[in-house]
Amino acid sequence: MGFNTDVLYAGRQEAAAQGATIAPIVQSSAFAYRTMEDLERVFANRAPGFVYTRVGNPTVAAFERRVAALEHGFAAVACASGMAAVAQTFQTILTAGDEVLASAGLYGGTIQFNALLRNLGITVRYVPHFTPDELESLVTDRTRLVFGEVISNPGLGVADIRAVAEWSHAHGLPLVLDSTTATPFLVRPLELGADIVIHSTSKYINGSGNGVSGIVVDSGRFRWDFDRYPALAPFRQFGPLAAHVRLRQDVMPCFGGCLAPFNAYLNLVGVETLGLRMERICRNASALAHALAAIPGVTVNHPSLDTHPQSALVRCQFRDGLAGGILTLRLGSRERALRTAERLRYATIASNIGDVRTLVIYPATTLFAHNTPEECTAAGVFDDTLRVSVGIEDPEDLVQDFTTAIETDTKGEQQ
Ligand SMILES: *Cc1c(COP(=O)(O)O)cnc(C)c1O
Repeated sequence: MGFNTDVLYAGRQEAAAQGATIAPIVQSSAFAYRTMEDLERVFANRAPGFVYTRVGNPTVAAFERRVAALEHGFAAVACASGMAAVAQTFQTILTAGDEVLASAGLYGGTIQFNALLRNLGITVRYVPHFTPDELESLVTDRTRLVFGEVISNPGLGVADIRAVAEWSHAHGLPLVLDSTTATPFLVRPLELGADIVIHSTSKYINGSGNGVSGIVVDSGRFRWDFDRYPALAPFRQFGPLAAHVRLRQDVMPCFGGCLAPFNAYLNLVGVETLGLRMERICRNASALAHALAAIPGVTVNHPSLDTHPQSALVRCQFRDGLAGGILTLRLGSRERALRTAERLRYATIASNIGDVRTLVIYPATTLFAHNTPEECTAAGVFDDTLRVSVGIEDPEDLVQDFTTAIETDTKGEQQ
């Protein structure tokens, strides 16, 4: 199946009530059984079924099957948010004393979470560029996980998935990638060697900005060494599925970061148009990036530009060389960045990405308000940076909106 067929049918099960064409919202906390013995069998994993929505729910399961299929993964666990997906994945794999190697240009919330891990005895070490050479320089005998973003938000660095996966596996380490900004439409990281893929499905997979959620997709292929991963040792009978089963049966139920059935339903609706939206969004972003790069005094970062340091990798790693829907603009000063954002007619000032609407934000004092100056620089956040999450509007309107906002400002300054 091609991608646009997959988003409609992959992982579908023919059990829908009254022939519903889309998984119904099963808005129930608990599930009733005829006898206590029937319920016992489900608790003991001796019979299929749902018990309680924190642990599993039919609508949530339909969403999990769809995304697992789109990523060509073994199985997925949906979570209350992208942050819950990151946090519960780390909690599944790591124990006190462990170290994580991560790329420096991560989503601000993930950097904030990593700092919090210090209290639990887990250290995250950052490499400025997510390359085997730089990873090699920081690996120790306590390293247990390699983490990065496929297209970093908002730094827009691109991970060479094959190269980093090969390096990780040579060191016996799992590669966990946050692929929120790339989506399975651009690339399936598990096929290039990643072991676990995480999404903030609040973004492109939902698509309309109407519900927060996250998901963890496991390839089911990583060979866990249970001496090095003691948290997974009680799940050794599941072999390469140990992390998936621990997340599902232990960490999710205990930490409780489950997805609500209603939000799973919104995501199931949203994901059906993921391919159509991503194609349009990426083409819009590229058109806008090229148009704005031609304006003097504006520095544009988008992986579709020849000036992007990894433009060759973008062309061979991503579907049709599409380069994602996020771009950043440096406008020379904080004042000019803020004035430009406020002058836009269509683009909305809001803290989100992956919406059908174009959104802009000034990250330095919002998304990165809790980060150090070094972390900001590593993430490509400067005092004149605007981040733009491009939507599905007509490209002519977007180009005109941004061009007018920027040029009005330039004229204003000259007067
Ligand atoms: C938004 C985002 C997250 C966090 O997801 P939430 O759903 O907001 O909790 C994690 N990683 C990336 C790359 C994101 O853009």
